[in-house]
Amino acid sequence: MSETVLSLKDFRVTFPTLLGDVQAVRGIDLDVHAGELVGVVGESGSGKSVTFLGVMGLLPKSARITGSATIRGTELVGASNKVQRAVRGKRIAMIFQDPLSALNPVHKVGAQIVEMLQAHQNLSKDAANKRAVELLDLVGIPQPDQRAKQYPHEFSGGMRQRVMIAMAIANDPEVLIADEPTTALDVTVQAQILEVIQRVQRELNAAVVFITHDLGVIARIADRVQVMYAGRAAERGEVHDILLRPTHPYTQGLLDSLPATGRERLTPIAGAPPNMLRPPPGCAFGPRCPHFAADVCAATLPVLRPFGAVETACLRAEELQAEVAR
Ligand code: ADP
Ligand code: MG
Repeated sequence: MSETVLSLKDFRVTFPTLLGDVQAVRGIDLDVHAGELVGVVGESGSGKSVTFLGVMGLLPKSARITGSATIRGTELVGASNKVQRAVRGKRIAMIFQDPLSALNPVHKVGAQIVEMLQAHQNLSKDAANKRAVELLDLVGIPQPDQRAKQYPHEFSGGMRQRVMIAMAIANDPEVLIADEPTTALDVTVQAQILEVIQRVQRELNAAVVFITHDLGVIARIADRVQVMYAGRAAERGEVHDILLRPTHPYTQGLLDSLPATGRERLTPIAGAPPNMLRPPPGCAFGPRCPHFAADVCAATLPVLRPFGAVETACLRAEELQAEVAR
């Protein structure tokens, strides 16, 4: 296995509110290695974005972050502003669903990439301009020298997404976080953007975290996947293991709600995720789980543990496997 680049240990995020503490992220342990793409998947509200916005230092000041998040040993939790500024946009970068939120409408895209470059590297104006055009070329923008002189609104959605990726990789980040970057795009453009992200993974040997609610996207690009539910990991492993033989009923539920050829209709998971002001003491998926057993599932907070080729948090994984085998 290649070197660990990003490492989370008991990473937690709590938002104090008038109604009480929203426990959005409740203890995540995750290592991402150089050149690896880890998919993070789960329904809306499972804590995917908050986890990695917290790692990036992009949450509101009121958010309480505990545990550890390191990039090759540099601690980000509680880091000084100086360390955060040096790391963000340089060693770790993030791309979002909506590129317009990351781009400045009144500046030409080339100038914005130049600014990103000069914030972290000692480059002359000429060298930075040249590098900006190279980056636009790298992410597959045709006629990059012309396009560098245009404004964000002159680009299509897919092309704007490429510009944001060019900005994110301008300083050769060790970690790239992609938060639903293709969710708003049509299928053809989505495939192109996935290819660009894979090229970044290979050419920069970056540790990539790809957040999505779509297991279909995970199947196409991820090496490993972590399934999240209610601010914790439900299951983690190599993509082919998790998708072929899910050990957690929540993952099975996500798979059953995927559109697949030859299937008459989709079966969404019944019920809704728990209120994160008061998550259940036992398995958070228990109230929605077809295999819920009160004596086991309501009593113990499940922890990710090795199970066959993967890691699972299902307290009944052994029993359920035995049932399937019978
Ligand atoms: P996902 O990205 O998996 O859809 P999020 O990470 O955005 O989910 O949200 C996780 C939980 O944190 C949700 O319950 C959400 O309502 C809550 N949350 C996010 N931001 C805030 C905030 N600023 N204040 C209070 N609660 C928040
Ligand atoms: Mg999100």
